[in-house]
Amino acid sequence: MKNVAIIGGGIIGLSTAYYLVKAGHTVTIFDQGDLLDNCSVGNAGMIVPSHIIPLAAPGMISKGIRWMFNAQSPFYVKPRLNGQLIKWGIQFYKHATHDHVARAIPALKDISIYSKAMYQQMAHDNPFDFSYQERGLLMLYQTKETEKEEAETAHIANKNGIEAQILSATEIQKLEPEVKVTVRGGVYFPGDAHLIPQQLVKNLIDYLKKNNVTFHTNTPVTDFTTKSDSIASMAASGENRTFDEYILATGAWSGIFSSKLGLDLPLQGGKGYSFTLNDVPKNIHIPSILLEGRVAVTPMGNSLRFGGTMEINGVDRSINMKRVKGIVNTIPAYYPEMNVAVPKQEEVWRGLRPCSPDGLPYIGRSTRFKNLVIATGHSMMGLSLAPGTGQLVTSLVNNEKTAIPLDPFDPERFK
Ligand SMILES: Cc1cc2nc3c(=O)[nH]c(=O)nc-3n(C[C@H](O)[C@H](O)[C@H](O)COP(=O)(O)OP(=O)(O)OC[C@H]3O[C@@H](n4cnc5c(N)ncnc54)[C@H](O)[C@@H]3O)c2cc1C
Repeated sequence: MKNVAIIGGGIIGLSTAYYLVKAGHTVTIFDQGDLLDNCSVGNAGMIVPSHIIPLAAPGMISKGIRWMFNAQSPFYVKPRLNGQLIKWGIQFYKHATHDHVARAIPALKDISIYSKAMYQQMAHDNPFDFSYQERGLLMLYQTKETEKEEAETAHIANKNGIEAQILSATEIQKLEPEVKVTVRGGVYFPGDAHLIPQQLVKNLIDYLKKNNVTFHTNTPVTDFTTKSDSIASMAASGENRTFDEYILATGAWSGIFSSKLGLDLPLQGGKGYSFTLNDVPKNIHIPSILLEGRVAVTPMGNSLRFGGTMEINGVDRSINMKRVKGIVNTIPAYYPEMNVAVPKQEEVWRGLRPCSPDGLPYIGRSTRFKNLVIATGHSMMGLSLAPGTGQLVTSLVNNEKTAIPLDPFDPERFK
């Protein structure tokens, strides 16, 4: 059995710890923060095998350019003269093609379905509660243009074995008896699920502590020493520590962080915001995406969370209230009787999605350092893909064959 360091205690690092401990390894997690303020806590909680089309897809470039001039738009790239951003942008542009989408779909589908099965297993074994619910996902639209795009997405999903049903406004209203919904129509993905991410993170941390995982919070890993083909030690809090294996799960910081090892991992933070209404008297039943505003809406018990925007912005964590207003302004067109005010800045959560330029995660063993495994870049789907990633990383640490092929997720694919 091995002594394993996990650098980064977001949902990817925590899920990896869960499976490593089950396999009998000794695990230590290092995080620069307190684990309660990273991207894994305030997200929309959706488990989305429906999302088989990566962000880098035809149409995103023209939409991105149109949206760049609107302060409240859902997608924004902050222009900067920064080498990493330029490299990322070139790769994003190169991958916004039909060929890339066709290659990415089976890979995303495999890992999503694998990962959802792990959540089902976890909910069944019930080591702790995380409010896992299988009610599907509604993609709602207002315009003819989006209807056409979404019908195409539904067609692609069905062709690839992911069930998608095109519903009329009346059919959608029947699924949401408590809340008035005004839409042109929508697509229902019955295979999606949702959970409460902050509950999952908290209870998973408690479970791991009870199972002898050591946590070093507010402890950034600052450096490494290396010997020919492996990592010799890492530095944290001024101390050098040695492990058998090192797992890099540093989320949006992974691009900058991996450069400490001389690795080249194109990655940008994709900032998003959420806010949560508590004690909602009449709640929606099924998680939904309000497509024209790219706003995610998730019922979480008596609460209702709204999340959205994607600002490609390095690792800047400041809150831009104009973007939050953009989320709020989207709501009345879909839920005309829901009176949602702009939240105060202190009620807004923000997180940095770790975005690879081709929309596929980085999961694999480094060829440069034989005791380093990389697990990051999950972009908009990190919560969905976390248990699957944790199990795949555990197979790598065990030197076993992985349950699904990892070639599409090769961390060195841009070399
Ligand atoms: C608004 C919004 C809504 C979303 N909704 C969904 C959803 O519905 N479904 C879904 O699947 N995904 C969703 N996501 C995406 C999902 O939240 C992310 O993909 C996921 O949280 C990424 O997890 P992570 O562990 O890679 O990163 P993080 O949670 O950010 O964790 C990385 C950790 O690494 C630590 N770290 C960084 N550098 C160092 C260092 N040098 N030393 C030590 N520690 C370090 C950080 O402190 C951090 O805790 C959403 C994201 C946003 C912003």
